[in-house]
Amino acid sequence: MIYFDNAATTYPKPRSVPNAVYAAFRRYGANPGRAGHNLSLATAGQVYRCRKALAELFGAPDEEHVAFTLNCTHALNMAIKGLLSPGDHVVTSDLEHNAVMRPLEELRRRGEITYTAAHVHMGNPAATLAEFERAIGPRTRLIVCTHVSNVFGVILPIEQIGALAARRGLCFVVDCAQSAGVLPVDLKRCHADCLCMPGHKGLYGPMGTGALICGGARTMRTIIEGGTGSLSKSLEQPELLPDRFESGTINVPGIAGLYAGTLFVRSAGIETIRRHEESVAGEIHGALTEIRGVRLYTPAPRAGVLAPVLSFNIDGLGSEQTAALLNEAGIAVRAGLHCAPAAHRTFGTLGTGTVRVSPGAFNTRRDGMRLIKSVFQIAKSRK
Ligand code: PLP
Repeated sequence: MIYFDNAATTYPKPRSVPNAVYAAFRRYGANPGRAGHNLSLATAGQVYRCRKALAELFGAPDEEHVAFTLNCTHALNMAIKGLLSPGDHVVTSDLEHNAVMRPLEELRRRGEITYTAAHVHMGNPAATLAEFERAIGPRTRLIVCTHVSNVFGVILPIEQIGALAARRGLCFVVDCAQSAGVLPVDLKRCHADCLCMPGHKGLYGPMGTGALICGGARTMRTIIEGGTGSLSKSLEQPELLPDRFESGTINVPGIAGLYAGTLFVRSAGIETIRRHEESVAGEIHGALTEIRGVRLYTPAPRAGVLAPVLSFNIDGLGSEQTAALLNEAGIAVRAGLHCAPAAHRTFGTLGTGTVRVSPGAFNTRRDGMRLIKSVFQIAKSRK
């Protein structure tokens, strides 16, 4: 099977990742930070190394500002709900995933907050910034937006949006689901309070891993409280990081795998991975534009403007039908709305959805050729 669904989760993982997960079970596997015995200390050491690697990769003040989460959605909920209070207004974009939209909508329905979605102008950061600025009102407390659209690959100018938030004294949270490990992201350079990311996509860790990386300048409320192994005498949730945001036993095998994935990304180089994915996606894009009956929704991927995530449809076929035919041909892509109805509304594809192709570090040009050939055959059979 040729796998082109890396925006959902990367597959395959580098071999070092399952090896590290297995080693976590075999060699240590005790509960970290809960006891002083050697196995617990060995586990804590492994968790610390992963924290440190992520802190370095994303410009966190130190490893304590990295809290492990279940996934990106978990981190986003913690950041959004931890920073907002009743009466607040939020600015977001019109390309968001439900991981941002549903928490916002839930808080809105409870009557606690209001929000405005600013329009993103593809390839025009100044116009996008102006939309975000226009959406800010007297009650605005937070700007939260994705770095990269998971459907169309559109890149948002997060450093400029962060600078705007800082100028206006607002909190800023970035959804790095599609950019962590694929584009450079730096907490300080984008003036962010929080970067939210999955461990299982561009960082090549196992599913069930993610991270909340915070600047720590503002005290965030917690949405989950419990045992942290620290300050146990107190019934109050500790202030100290990362314990404040890590109640209960963490996913040690997953974190061991995430560490191996992060080392893989670090040694391959984020820029090298991005260029590779861009070249595979660019070639697919170029060929699909030549096939009659294929409709693409964006220009080819381009550094700083469009990440290597393509969406298309074939005339006369639903996106799910196309994906099913590709599956029969041995190619895995995702169809439908990709949990991002807001982005589809913006692009006019809410009714149809799209077929999404998202290459990863292990896809080859040959994979791309197989996909192009299959799309050509499907489109030809429709005429
Ligand atoms: N945000 C975006 C832009 C995404 O693409 C995704 C997942 O596809 C998420 C958030 C949610 O990530 P997770 O599945 O790790 O919670």
